[in-house]
Amino acid sequence: MFLRGLLATLLLSSSALAQEVPEAKAAAERALFKQIVEIPTVEGRGNMPKLTRLLTAEFRKAGITNVVVKDHDKTQTLIARWPAANPSGRKPILLMAHMDVVEANPADWKYDPFTFRAEDGWYLGRGASDNKAALTGIVLALQGLKKSGFAPTRDIIILFTGDEETAAMGARRASTEWRALVDAEYALNGDAGGGAVYRDGRVEGFSMQIAEKTYADFTFAATNRGGHSSAPRPDNAIYALAGAIKAVEAHRFAPMINDATRVAYERIAAADSGAYGELVRKWLKDPADRETADLLEANDPGYTRTRCVATMLSGGHAPNALPQKAEANVNCRIFPGVKIETIRTELQALAGPDVAVTLADSSPESGPSPLRDDVVDAYKAAVATRFKDAPIIPMMSAGATDGSYFRNVGIPVYGVGGLWGIVGEKQGAHGLDERVLIEGFHGQVPIWEELLRRLAG
Ligand SMILES: [Zn+2]
Repeated sequence: MFLRGLLATLLLSSSALAQEVPEAKAAAERALFKQIVEIPTVEGRGNMPKLTRLLTAEFRKAGITNVVVKDHDKTQTLIARWPAANPSGRKPILLMAHMDVVEANPADWKYDPFTFRAEDGWYLGRGASDNKAALTGIVLALQGLKKSGFAPTRDIIILFTGDEETAAMGARRASTEWRALVDAEYALNGDAGGGAVYRDGRVEGFSMQIAEKTYADFTFAATNRGGHSSAPRPDNAIYALAGAIKAVEAHRFAPMINDATRVAYERIAAADSGAYGELVRKWLKDPADRETADLLEANDPGYTRTRCVATMLSGGHAPNALPQKAEANVNCRIFPGVKIETIRTELQALAGPDVAVTLADSSPESGPSPLRDDVVDAYKAAVATRFKDAPIIPMMSAGATDGSYFRNVGIPVYGVGGLWGIVGEKQGAHGLDERVLIEGFHGQVPIWEELLRRLAG
């Protein structure tokens, strides 16, 4: 096993790069990526202008001169437009990625997170996988298309936000107040999607994110007139809250299915002849079957329904006083298309009259984007230039990206990408020693180019 793994590693690192990407091109791609990774675009460090200056210069160099940098909310957002050379009348395509990265503590990392390095077939550095590889890939693909003389038949708009990991004001404002600058038929989001390849070269598939669960925090609050603890009464804020929380624990929301989860489960049903596959087949026959959905949730939580869980708790003000207040936070991941208010009402009914359930925080409600043949076919064909017959797998994310703001205002968003990773090998997004496969990084560029040739040609 070890030998075979080693051999596969050697094959991956030597053959593909040397053969398929000319050395000078790979060196230039890597040099740009290094520059981008080494700008620590962490919230609060004030480095975003360095990156937007660099990217603006890269776009100008390629002949994309319509570049707007918005200063807002202590960060920046870059919007660029490559106008159609031969306008077909179709609405623009929006390309999305984000420029900011999650904080990284050098003491916890093997190497300095903001010093770019290559090692064992990986490029390392904070942001290498989330989201600077795809960001760089999009820039390189646009430069490549320009250089090749590609003449788009519709505008290609680029939106690079500067606070996706935090307040997401860039996406919020772009989808509303700057809508005229970014309005598009649909968006391709480089922050979701991409391929999974086995060490032995087999391809699992390339995913396409078409839906995201809605994030919502609800405050459960019980209030009471309090009193002396030597004289207990049946009404008690802590007991009331505890009862409400236990009701949430026992509750199961109605199971649901959409295009993304159906395809994912159908793939399991076809591939797994064991007990789990049996369960999946049973559920696909009747997605309203709560018991079977429960069993699936135990294996892979979050994909058959809305899920809510208690995450924080506080209450009381003195050891010898009846509590005047008890509060909990219940975090929900709402199935795409379900209204936040519907879930709040359901939680309020569970909590009973002595506990008030209010919305504390949420991402925008966003339904699934409809699967479009043109986008799926173009993505499949673009991936096939490198991985013949690789399946395209629609996907629902449990977390929220910038895409949710656009789905919320009616612009479909497809999370796609030419990058790939190795099945079972961590890339460290948001975590330690973040990295991206060297072969995947360079390999994404022709895939993005082909995708755009097909969708904007
Ligand atoms: Zn991201």
